[in-house]
Amino acid sequence: MKKDKIWLSSPHIGGSEQKYVQQAFDTNWIAPVGANIDAFELDLENYLGDGHVTALNSGTAAIHLGLVLLGVSAGDEVICQSLTFSASANPILYQGAIPIFIDSEIDTWNLCPVALEEAIIDRIKKGKKPKVILAVALYGVPYKVEEIRIIANKYGIPILEDSAEALGSSFKGKACGSFGDVSALSFNGSKIITTSGGGAIITATKALKERAIFLATQAKENAPHYQHTEVGYNYRMSNVLAGIGRGQMEVLDERVDSRRMMHQFYIELFEGIKGVSVYKVPNENYCPNYWLTSILIDPTETGGITNETVRLKLLEENIESRSLWKPMHLQPIYSNYPYYGNNITETLFNKGLCLPSGSNLSDEDRARIKSVLINLFKKHDN
Ligand SMILES: *Cc1c(COP(=O)(O)O)cnc(C)c1O
Repeated sequence: MKKDKIWLSSPHIGGSEQKYVQQAFDTNWIAPVGANIDAFELDLENYLGDGHVTALNSGTAAIHLGLVLLGVSAGDEVICQSLTFSASANPILYQGAIPIFIDSEIDTWNLCPVALEEAIIDRIKKGKKPKVILAVALYGVPYKVEEIRIIANKYGIPILEDSAEALGSSFKGKACGSFGDVSALSFNGSKIITTSGGGAIITATKALKERAIFLATQAKENAPHYQHTEVGYNYRMSNVLAGIGRGQMEVLDERVDSRRMMHQFYIELFEGIKGVSVYKVPNENYCPNYWLTSILIDPTETGGITNETVRLKLLEENIESRSLWKPMHLQPIYSNYPYYGNNITETLFNKGLCLPSGSNLSDEDRARIKSVLINLFKKHDN
């Protein structure tokens, strides 16, 4: 009999979600407005400690609305980290804007400050100052918050923080989701907490929050009829799904603890295995949620075992793992846009693998994972 599938990262429901969903039914607020949305936003604001939260129906919508709020329009250039999920970059094209892709640095795997500044200088020289810097906290690791902020301020370019993967992470004690001029979160099924599908945009002021809600609800103006002078979107979160979010917020800290425990599990598992390094932050200022634990495999040191060898071996045992995000500048749809850097992203992509990291994995799951990996690397546990 085939063993149960071990997923990379699957939804992990707490205890109260159904209670809040029931409240939406009981009060008949089966709509993108209602008490669950207000409460979920408040929970997030308290958790982040900074900023005004608007709940939306996806992280992608949050990024798109972020670009709109920051004034990106057709023909503008937007700087974007290349090593990321396509949902970071696609909204740039929704706006008819031009993505300028930037390499990662090796400490956080996120936006490289050196390549970033080089790109800004070159774009300005070519006649156009980039409109926004889209920085991602990949796999829950904060980007180089201070270095990127210094550059952003120096050139007067706002930051759109994509923390879709980083709720529960922090840098110097400050929460991810609060570093951008505008920031985005995701609550998709695979993320650290989920509303089945959903997202949030975080803005600095109440006025910007009101503007986000206005645009996310079809840009309906105050009039007895439907009056529109701007393009609107249907991006608001459902009050039913916000009920799931409220329940998930109650267990967020536990979920983060479990993910960090999985990271520690892999550190111990790979101790002494040559050619495999588990991602580790450069210093203790970085406090990731370790949404996904990633490893780099150097086949010249593992006797030829590659990231793909490991992925296929795990798959044989019905265990899901996944290569890192394929860099955007290598994607067919994005290959014609400018790229600045030294191909760190390529190296990471070629060597990297994300391992099962869910907060709901059992001891038995961990034993199965461990046995496959230890056997593959021919190391006997003792
Ligand atoms: C998941 C994700 C998104 C998109 O969020 P959705 O809620 O799935 O639309 C954007 N950026 C990154 C880095 C992500 O991982």
